[in-house]
Amino acid sequence: MNTYFFSFSKNKQLIEIELHATDTTRIQDSFELPAWRPGRYQLQNFAKNILNFSVKTTAGVDLDWSKTARNTWKVFNPELQDFVIRYSYYANEFNAGGSYVSQNLKYFNPVNLTLFRKDELEQAVKVYINLDEGDLVACSMPYDIKGNEVELEPRNLTEWFDSPIIISPDLIHEEFQAENVPFHFWLYGNAGFFIPGLIDDLQKIAEYQIRLFGEFPQKSYHFFLLVPENTYYHGVEHASNTVMVLGQDGILPQTYYFDLLGLASHELFHAWNIARIRPAELLPYDYTRENYFSTCFVAEGFTTYYGDRILLESGVIDYAQYLHELETTLKRHFDEADNACQSLLESSFDLWVDGYEKGTPNKKVSVYNKGAVAAMILDILIRRNTGDTKSLDDIMRQLWNRFGNEMKKGYTYSDIKIISEEVFGSSLEHYFKTVVESAEPIFDLTNDYLAYWSLKMEYIPETSAIRLVQI
Ligand SMILES: [Zn+2]
Repeated sequence: MNTYFFSFSKNKQLIEIELHATDTTRIQDSFELPAWRPGRYQLQNFAKNILNFSVKTTAGVDLDWSKTARNTWKVFNPELQDFVIRYSYYANEFNAGGSYVSQNLKYFNPVNLTLFRKDELEQAVKVYINLDEGDLVACSMPYDIKGNEVELEPRNLTEWFDSPIIISPDLIHEEFQAENVPFHFWLYGNAGFFIPGLIDDLQKIAEYQIRLFGEFPQKSYHFFLLVPENTYYHGVEHASNTVMVLGQDGILPQTYYFDLLGLASHELFHAWNIARIRPAELLPYDYTRENYFSTCFVAEGFTTYYGDRILLESGVIDYAQYLHELETTLKRHFDEADNACQSLLESSFDLWVDGYEKGTPNKKVSVYNKGAVAAMILDILIRRNTGDTKSLDDIMRQLWNRFGNEMKKGYTYSDIKIISEEVFGSSLEHYFKTVVESAEPIFDLTNDYLAYWSLKMEYIPETSAIRLVQI
């Protein structure tokens, strides 16, 4: 079993890594870094942060090695001895998918910096992480603290890649139960609000989501909230946890409170929708290259729609606040991308090309924003056709039952169409052709459906905003 040791050179912002490689059966032994991280469908450049690479046998004799690609190192091991790879990782990215080391924070996403053999992803590993006195450890995996070390035994590297580590003496920790599932909330940084109110609201959100699906996919769940020195607003989802980075100028002000709830709701929904209910192309994740898929409007669009909708349904915001959130989502699509030339399917595939940058004008749509509008229209279509006896919730439950629960296979676009039509009760060809497969503007069409909720969108040219009015 391979063993990893992590320690920290805090003044240099370096994470020092040792990989003790056993089961050495190859004279030329290749190791790589993940080329991307789940939750962000673009190639990453983690290798740029690697320095001080060396390899010795466990007896201390140097072994030759060479770099064979941007993420790949080859070790020459003619006598098939066990060996230790040592390298440093420059940890200076304070965001939800990065790694950051300072005097009182040791935070890393293992997917950034864990070298692995391509064919050993499903093998168990051992991990030891060095601690300073007074350190607290936030991690969704079980662990033991022995002396000045944390000891973890991930079932496999997939679990390890999904388990960010946050270590600091300054962590605040709260616990609560939702439908008998233990939840944890961890805070690093200054939050300008009263935590118990937040815990009550997170509990309502979690209870609502668990009842929606009928069960929770994991034994427990952890919300990690990091408050940055700069302005930041994003989160990264994992199966048993989420890292959220939110705030400005070193504080999370009270005015961000509903943004935080919306983000937490969105990321928790991913515990079902992507961590378990997964597109066929992403099951399993291939960490070595792009994983193209065309259905991100389900993974991110549906999740964006539900993230806000659940705040309303669980009672943590009122209808007026919900309409304000919905106006923001509608503006993001209709002000910026309703005339784009790509469909939702095309822009999903192209996430790997330019999904997270401004990109070429009038080219792409956002799978988050247009995807949320597509989710809302589908929800209204089903509610209207079934007299509110069925909704998008029924599609999500079917996806959970058929794909997420056992997680033996992923869904295709065709599965989404079939399940939607089963719940709707007849053909949805017009909906999928117009809203998902084509790039034609959907402003008037969206208004036709919003009328079911006695709402109408109005575009305000002076401020490029969308206003929802009652009709
Ligand atoms: Zn998301």
